[in-house]
Parts: sequence; structure tokens; C-alpha cells
Amino acid sequence: MIEKNKDFDELDIDYENRIVSSSESEEDKDSEISLRPHSIDEYVGQAKAKENLKVYIGAAKMRKDSLDHVLLYGPPGLGKTTLACIMANELGVNLRVTSGPAIEKAGDLAALLTNLSENDILFIDEIHRLNRSVEEILYPAMEDYSLDLIIGKGPSARSMRIQLPRFTLVGATTRAGQLSTPLRDRFGILLKLELYSTEELASIVTRSAGILGIAIETDGALEIASRSRGTPRIANRLLKRVRDFAQFTGKECIDREAAGFALDRLEIDELGLDNIDRRMLETIIKIYNGGPVGLDTLAATVGEEAITIEDVYEPYLMQIGFLSRTPRGRMVTRLAYEHLGIPFRGQSSSASQQTFSLE
Ligand code: ADP
Repeated sequence: MIEKNKDFDELDIDYENRIVSSSESEEDKDSEISLRPHSIDEYVGQAKAKENLKVYIGAAKMRKDSLDHVLLYGPPGLGKTTLACIMANELGVNLRVTSGPAIEKAGDLAALLTNLSENDILFIDEIHRLNRSVEEILYPAMEDYSLDLIIGKGPSARSMRIQLPRFTLVGATTRAGQLSTPLRDRFGILLKLELYSTEELASIVTRSAGILGIAIETDGALEIASRSRGTPRIANRLLKRVRDFAQFTGKECIDREAAGFALDRLEIDELGLDNIDRRMLETIIKIYNGGPVGLDTLAATVGEEAITIEDVYEPYLMQIGFLSRTPRGRMVTRLAYEHLGIPFRGQSSSASQQTFSLE
């Protein structure tokens, strides 16, 4: 039986309100509307996805047809919802937004689909969380733009086919691998969103600062960007917190020093790691001698859900080369040891049960 790591219990961590969480918070919801880019040219980064999308949108417009169904996948906060809004703007059509868990019954989806107009976009966030009965309604809707409904129950039940307008389904998911094959196969366009570079994030921070009326120097934007874990949502959130510190300390313009000071106070280090990341890495090092440790064991040890570790923590830790996924489990790399200032003594399978003190 695996027990929760004591260090984590003592910390009493508020995962929900973690400042470097890529999930959307209530505060984000208010500001995201104003910070969202509206056209494809305002959308920073994701060059490959953007260039291809421009072609598909242009071609659909020329044909005066609906855009093929699009699946967007990548970690939270990278701009999937934003891209769906941009597609609707560029095509000049309506956008209906919903999410997998919000569509409980087949009837809910039928109501959404029958209310669409020609070429409209239906955006389903977290599409991997649709339940099976709802998903089955989607197949004929995506393929033939038709809806097969069963009216009534028992012997008097009859089926009815309703023709739908041609529409575009844009699905977003953090985990394309969890989508059933029949659903995945019905998307004509698959776009993978990647974590952003520091320069791209700095340009997002500068743009957001302009919208929010915050004065910022290039160095200040780069400082925030380099600690934002490759994620625009985090960059925008850090910008707002840095502004608070700058305002409070009477700084009129955010420079590298002001940004660094605020982010240090928030305990976000120069690579964007917060206490939770550091504790997770230290736990793997302390308890599992750097790994390998299975995802479920790790989740139980740090008291976090396996899915959150996979979707939220790992993509960035892997991108910066601090964590690797092996067939036998997660391993902390030498780079992470160096960053945490812990001597690296090699990782051998025979030593996997050995623990050593951090002090
Ligand atoms: P997701 O749907 O992938 O979780 P969102 O589309 O809600 O992410 O993006 C979160 C926020 O990040 C948006 O409000 C927007 O301000 C910002 N953002 C995301 N991608 C970009 C981008 N490419 N350029 C500028 N801002 C972006």
C-alpha cells in the first residue's frame, strides 16, 4: 500500500489555485475574452498548424463550403479554444462552444446540432470525455450531416433521420490517444499544438500588456516568458501578478528586475518550476532514487491524479529534459538533479529501492 508522501501533506498544497497551472481559473475567464487574438495573423507561434489552417480556411471559403472537421490536441492553455474562435471569425460563421462533460445525453447533442446554421462551427472542448451514447450520435452527424433519432420506447419505438446543415466540428483534447478510433478517423484535419518558445511567449506578453495598459520592457517580457512553461495562459497570468507587484512597489514600467523580483516572490524559478514541480522531482529522487517509478505510484505518492501529472506537469518537465518516460516508468534526469542542486549518483535498477537524504 502506497502512502501519500509526508512532504506533500505538510505543504497543504492548493493545486487548484496553483499560479503556474495551465488550467483555466475564474480570473482567467474574465480576462481571456479581451486577451484572445481574433485573427489568424494576431495568433502568435504554432507556425505549422497556422500555415496549414490558412490554406484549409482559404480553400473552404473559395468553395463556399464548410471547413472539414478539425481536431486540435495539445496540453491545456496553448490556444485551442482561441484557434476555434479564430476559425469562426475567419470563415465569418457562428461558433457554438460546449464541452465533452457538458453533453450528458444524446438529446443534448441533438439539440445543439439541430440549432446550427449552414457552415457553423461547433466547438467541443475535452472531446475525449464524451460518453459513448453521445459519441455514436456524432458519427453520422460528422459523416453525412444527419441525425438518427429513436422516438418512443418499446415496440412503438421508431427511428427518424433528420438532415443537418453542413457544419464543422472542432474538437479539442489534451489527449488524442484517448479518443476512440472511429471518432478520431472522422476528423479530416488534425492539428497538434506545441509548447511555445520564450520569444513567442514574450511577444504574447507584450501584446497582452498593451491591451491591459501595462508598460513593459522587452527584457521584462522575456523574463516573464522564460518562466511561463511554454504556455500562453500562464504567461498572461504571470503578467498580471507581476503588474501587482510593480504597482505596489511604485514601478511604472515592468523591466527584467521588476519581473524577476515578483516571480521570485511567487517562488517560480528561472525555468518556471514552482514548489509543486520541485517537490515532485525531489520525491522521485528521494523515494525512488530518481526512478523509474510508475505513473500511478507517483500519483499516489504525491497525492495528485495521474491524469493531471500526465497532462499538466509532465509535458513541460519533459520538454526541458528534466523527466523522461521509459517503459518502466518516469525517471528524473541528470539535468534536474543539477537544477535542484542534488548530487547525481547514477540510477541503477538495483538501487531503485535505496533512498538518500536531501539534506
Ligand atoms: P486552451 O483552449 O488550449 O486551453 P485557450 O485558447 O483558452 O487555451 O488559451 C488561453 C489564453 O492564452 C487565451 O485567452 C489567449 O489569451 C492566450 N493565447 C493562447 N494562444 C495564443 C496565441 N497563439 N497568441 C496569443 N495569445 C494566445
